[in-house]
Amino acid sequence: MGFDDSVLICDQVNPILNKILEENGLKISYEPEITPDQIKEKIGEFNIVIVRSRTKLTKELIENANNCKIIARVGVGLDNIDLDAAKAKNIRVINAVEGAMNAVAEQVLGLMLSLARNIPRADREIRNGNWLKKELMGTELKGKYLGIVGLGNIGKRLGRLAKALNMNIIGYDVIPIDEEFSKEVGLMKTDLDTLLQSSDYVSLHVPLLDSTYHLINAEKLSSMKKTACIINTSRGGVVDEEALYDVLKNGNLGGAALDVFEKEPATDNKLVSLPNVVMTPHIGAQTKEAQSLAANVIAEKIIQILRGVI
Ligand code: NAD
Repeated sequence: MGFDDSVLICDQVNPILNKILEENGLKISYEPEITPDQIKEKIGEFNIVIVRSRTKLTKELIENANNCKIIARVGVGLDNIDLDAAKAKNIRVINAVEGAMNAVAEQVLGLMLSLARNIPRADREIRNGNWLKKELMGTELKGKYLGIVGLGNIGKRLGRLAKALNMNIIGYDVIPIDEEFSKEVGLMKTDLDTLLQSSDYVSLHVPLLDSTYHLINAEKLSSMKKTACIINTSRGGVVDEEALYDVLKNGNLGGAALDVFEKEPATDNKLVSLPNVVMTPHIGAQTKEAQSLAANVIAEKIIQILRGVI
């Protein structure tokens, strides 16, 4: 059975998504460069609106979505969609939690190894003609304590990968943590303060909510070991960047690796001036596998919703 719903795709997505939807009869308007003004003008024509990260579906835009049944985010976080506005218009909001799980967890491993072994700096120096063998003494991840804040899909995947590297895993979540997972990785469950005080690496995997905005503030950062490193691949607002800059600059924290920032693109972020910071441009889920999986998941969910199955 085909459907004749119309779909507006506002960001660049894996072509498999367009292909599956078109095969099911949906009419696609693929506009990966569309501006907010253009969305406002035409959103009312569409039954389904699909975004990734670039497009922010604000209250003002959603209020114009008079024929919309589904808003889909080809990714995990829903902080670029005004969920209250969608609810008020009776629009179902879906995402693809499965897509990014492994990609982000692997990115965290890359960032931890980058910090532990100074890999980005070693690369920069050698390109500048410097052979800093003695100065770039590293440390190993084996035996270190990794504190994972938020043990949902990504946090758990990271725990499993880090266990394979013989790290000790400490975990904190606001909801009960999966028992099977805890046994598998030998998880030490604790509160946030103990986790921060005990970890060599702290990796954040919580959604950005009012309750997690600046969860890691000056006070929390100052409670961490001076040699510890923090890794944020969740959302920029979870860490107070000003406070992070201060602890790093004053030598009160070992290092930081950030994939997400309070303001993106983070092209004029003052953290770039610090040597003990590794930064990537929000590429945690930017793998061929994750994008293809997320596109397949979203296409499948849309078809199932239109069929009335879910
Ligand atoms: P998830 O919903 O599966 O897990 C989040 C976990 O955080 C849940 O278990 C929840 O109970 C817990 N949590 C919520 N508030 C908390 C708090 N105050 N303290 C401790 N735990 C808390 O989400 P996920 O798929 O694992 O994604 C985690 C984060 O990663 C999200 O912020 C998402 O936006 C982000 N993300 C980033 C990228 C990237 O490209 N860097 C890609 C995908 C997802």
